[in-house]
Amino acid sequence: MQGEGAIFDIGTYVKALGHSACVIGGKSSLAATREGRERSFADEGLRQGEALFRGESSDSEIDRLADIARGESREVIVACGGGKAIDAAKAVAACLGLPVAIVPTVASNDSPCSALSVIYDEGGAFKRIQNHGKNPDLVLADTAVIARAPVRHLVSGMGDALATWYEADACRRSGASAPAGGKATGAALALARLCRDTLFEHGPGAVAACEEKKPTPALERIVEANILLSGLGFESAGVALAHALSEGFAIALGGHSRSHGEMVAFGLLAQLALEGRPRREIREVMEFCRSVRLPITLRELGADGMGHGALRTAAEISAEEGRPSHNMPFSVDADSIMAAIIEADARGRELEGERDDA
Ligand SMILES: [Zn+2]
Repeated sequence: MQGEGAIFDIGTYVKALGHSACVIGGKSSLAATREGRERSFADEGLRQGEALFRGESSDSEIDRLADIARGESREVIVACGGGKAIDAAKAVAACLGLPVAIVPTVASNDSPCSALSVIYDEGGAFKRIQNHGKNPDLVLADTAVIARAPVRHLVSGMGDALATWYEADACRRSGASAPAGGKATGAALALARLCRDTLFEHGPGAVAACEEKKPTPALERIVEANILLSGLGFESAGVALAHALSEGFAIALGGHSRSHGEMVAFGLLAQLALEGRPRREIREVMEFCRSVRLPITLRELGADGMGHGALRTAAEISAEEGRPSHNMPFSVDADSIMAAIIEADARGRELEGERDDA
C-alpha cells in the first residue's frame, strides 16, 4: 500500500493479520506514525503497544524485542522506521512465528519488501544476512511521512535501487541464483529495468519534492522504485559486485562508513568499470548520481582517507568466497576489484574536473 496519508488506513490492513500489535520503531519513526496508527487502530478495534528500538539490528536486540512481544501476547509485529528497525522487526516476527507489517518512514533501502534481514553485532559491524523464507505480510508506505524525512535517506534508497538492474543483468548473464531461489524470470528483469528507468526519469524531481517536504507524483514514483521495484528486483533477480563492495566498504570503513545505498552506488560504478561497459553507458549512470548527489569518487564516499591498505581490505572482503561478487559472469578476485575501484574513482574525478572547469 502506498500513498499520501496511507498510515491513517493501517488498521484496515493490519486487522487481517492480528488484533494486538507490537509496534517496533525508533523514537522519531514511532512519533511520525503515531497519530495515524492510534486513530486507525481505534477505528478498527485493534490494540497496540510500542517497543522502542535501540538502534541496532543485533541478535541481542532481536531477543529483547521478541521477549516484549511474547510477554504481551501480541499477534502481529509492526515495524516503523528505516532499514535496521525493519530488519530487526522481521527477525522478531520470524522468531515468534508471527505476521509482520512494515511501515517504512524513509525510503532509504530495499529492505521493506524483502524476506531478508541484515544482522549486525552490538557495535554495528555487519555480521550476516538472514533469510526468513517469507516476505512481509504488508508493506505500507505513507509518502507524506517519507517526504518529511531528510532527503539524504531518499537519495541513499536511490543508490540501492540504481544497482538493481545492473546486478540483475549480471546475474542473468552468469546464471546465478536469486535470493528468492531459482533464476530470474523475465518479469523480475522487467521490474529491475523499470526501477532504473524510473530513477533516471523522476530521481531529481523526487529530491526536489523531498526538499520541499511535499509528496509529488515524482516522489510517489521514486518511493515505489526504492521500496517495491528495488526490493522485488534484487530478491527475484540477484545481486552482484555492487552489493559485494558495499559489504567490503562497510566492514573496512567500520563506523566511518556511509549509508548502504551510497556504498552500493559507488560499488556499482566499480562493477560497470569491471564489466567494461561502454563509456557512454557509465557516463549516464555517473551523471544520474551527480544529479541526485550520490558519490562518484572515493572522496565523496568518505573513503579517500582510507589509504591503499584499507581499500585493499575492502576489495579482499568483497572477493571472499560466498560474497555476491561471484555472481558476476566472469571470475573476479581482489586484484581485479581493486583495479575497478581505482578506475571508477578516476572516472568520477574526471567528471568532477570537467564540472569545475565549466
Ligand atoms: Zn541493498
